Amino acid sequence: MAEETIFSKIIRREIPADILYQDDLVTAFRDITPKAPTHVLIIPNHLIPTTNDIKASDEKALGRMMSVAAKLAQEAGIAEDGYRLIMNCNQHAGQEVFHIHMHLLGGQPLGPMLS
Ligand code: 5GP
Repeated sequence: MAEETIFSKIIRREIPADILYQDDLVTAFRDITPKAPTHVLIIPNHLIPTTNDIKASDEKALGRMMSVAAKLAQEAGIAEDGYRLIMNCNQHAGQEVFHIHMHLLGGQPLGPMLS
């Protein structure tokens, strides 16, 4: 069984986080070390360690992550200028927390993807 991460504690509100959105499937909160003026993490409420572990039964939560990202981008006022959604998987991508999360980054020009 996969080990819980700090994100499970954030979902259960056992440790503080700036939670912007939560429902039965997903939670969204500000990244503790923002890399852009808007930097939000959107995560499923149930533990999926990496994108390699995604199953068909996770599709509802994954779809909700996308729609919540779009909603939060609108609310942050970054939708028109644009933003980036990123999910890192394992070592080569630099994944640090093994509970999948979508980064929503925006509020400034983000430059080329790989630099
Ligand atoms: P990764 O590199 O795994 O894609 O990104 C993990 C992200 O989680 C990093 O951007 C890091 O700043 C963020 N993070 C790690 N621990 C915490 C925490 O305890 N609270 C919050 N809000 N963000 C965290």
